[in-house]
Amino acid sequence: MTQNDAVKSQGSPAGSRVRPLRPRPVVNEDVAFFWEGVRRGELLIQRCTACGQLRHPPRPMCAACQSVEWETLKSTGRGTIKSFVVVHYPEFPGFTCPYAVATVALDEGTCLVAGMVGVEPGAVSIGMKVQVEFVAVEEDLTLPQFRPVG
Ligand code: ZN
Repeated sequence: MTQNDAVKSQGSPAGSRVRPLRPRPVVNEDVAFFWEGVRRGELLIQRCTACGQLRHPPRPMCAACQSVEWETLKSTGRGTIKSFVVVHYPEFPGFTCPYAVATVALDEGTCLVAGMVGVEPGAVSIGMKVQVEFVAVEEDLTLPQFRPVG
């Protein structure tokens, strides 16, 4: 069954246009802590306990010292846009163009890629101060996204 079939089986009238769902994150042992944090409204970042290096996306080994020991840091969710793109085309199932996707440099010192909220895509700029917000983009999908502040 495809995601579209799943939506159709939930009661859409025959022949109506069904909005496809966004792809779901793959949650495995390495990233489960991150998504559990998102469910609680916390942005958790991996920190190597051997050398203190932060890393995102989550992975089993530190690239700086090769240690596999780590803990999590609860981020303030504050950061600065380091780079971004505005997607106009091609349309991707579950997304409405145009939309902005940014690389955010968190104040704690690592980066993550996320969507933007509360700003027109054309108004996003490098250096913009942002704050994480946990957005239910679909009924069963909450994602960390960033909103401009100040
Ligand atoms: Zn390390």
